[in-house]
Amino acid sequence: MIRFNSAPLTGGEAVYMQQAMANGKLCGDGPFTKKCSEWMKEHFQVNHCYLTTSCTHALEMAAYLCDIQPGDEVIMPSYTFVSTADAFVLRGAKIVFVDIHPETMNIDERLIEDAITEKTKAIVVVHYAGVSCEMDEIMEIAKRHNLRVVEDAAQGVYAWYKGKALGTIGDFGCYSFHETKNYTMGEGGALLFNDIEYRDRAEILREKGTDRSRFFRGQIDKYTWVDYGSSYLPSDLNAAYLYAQLEKAEEINERRMAIYNYYHEHFECLEQAGAVIRPFVPEYCKHNAHMYYLKLKDLETRTAFIDYLKEHDIMAVFHYIPLHSSAAGKRFGRFHGEDVHTTKESERIVRLPMFYNLTDEQVKYVTDTVLNFKGF
Ligand SMILES: *Cc1c(COP(=O)(O)O)cnc(C)c1O
Repeated sequence: MIRFNSAPLTGGEAVYMQQAMANGKLCGDGPFTKKCSEWMKEHFQVNHCYLTTSCTHALEMAAYLCDIQPGDEVIMPSYTFVSTADAFVLRGAKIVFVDIHPETMNIDERLIEDAITEKTKAIVVVHYAGVSCEMDEIMEIAKRHNLRVVEDAAQGVYAWYKGKALGTIGDFGCYSFHETKNYTMGEGGALLFNDIEYRDRAEILREKGTDRSRFFRGQIDKYTWVDYGSSYLPSDLNAAYLYAQLEKAEEINERRMAIYNYYHEHFECLEQAGAVIRPFVPEYCKHNAHMYYLKLKDLETRTAFIDYLKEHDIMAVFHYIPLHSSAAGKRFGRFHGEDVHTTKESERIVRLPMFYNLTDEQVKYVTDTVLNFKGF
């Protein structure tokens, strides 16, 4: 069976994890956590970067730092993972969903302004498949209306928009290092931001509401409970695993791109025949091959296609059930405008196996099997 996903393994992970064990510092903010955040600050050109226990938690931190109050509204696409919304719902926000661009599955920035009300506090964008949203336009809208912009860049690590790393363009960027993402630590994430104004509150929030970070910097001589907080620090053991992957970031990226390009070239004929639609990447976006998907004619074709691949020992998956049509989405949010693309496109999309350790042979087998499907 060819799996849909498998956590990348580059060889250095076990060495660094043993080092972390030898260091005798398994809790958060140990040497490997520092190495990871320094690496990201340097490579992604961002002032502040904090490793977290997940992207969900990074989003929760962002929601808190945006000062979301009960009843505030937050605009985002409905076509996303639940955490994008949940993090804001936890702070009492009302979610206002808007439609997506069918070409990229990203939020349609032209629909944002009409969804803004007096209660709107933030815009949350999701860089689907590591392809950037239209950030220039979105930042311009946010500026005009004095709104915060949070980038759910869970899928956008090591991807760029007009030369800027995804996750470093808005007020806050949130990364995921879950095992299904390009770089992993099992479960984990990061919160990124540039404005030093957020630093103290972010550190306090992440350190159980204490000013422990200031204490470690030698700015105060004891630490105490100063504000609301939680515990968002991952173990240094997990950070050790991640650091091995960050050191090989380019290699992992190249391998994923090679798989992506192989699929993309070989499915061009299907697109020309009108059987599928392939992913689209605007020329000013440098994506990271987070996923390879195809869009089929409709839900029925997709179901038959996934069954066919399964019969041939290939796992292919679909996602997301649009949030506005879920039970919680109805309770905590509303769809602004018309759902022209979200539901329709979400029913057509299918993701093919895509991970670092997928072999050339397996990629070829998946490709040939797809090309032999008779039900398009
Ligand atoms: C994976 C993912 C998340 C959640 O990441 P975790 O690290 O598992 O919390 C959030 N948003 C998007 C768009 C994702 O793909």
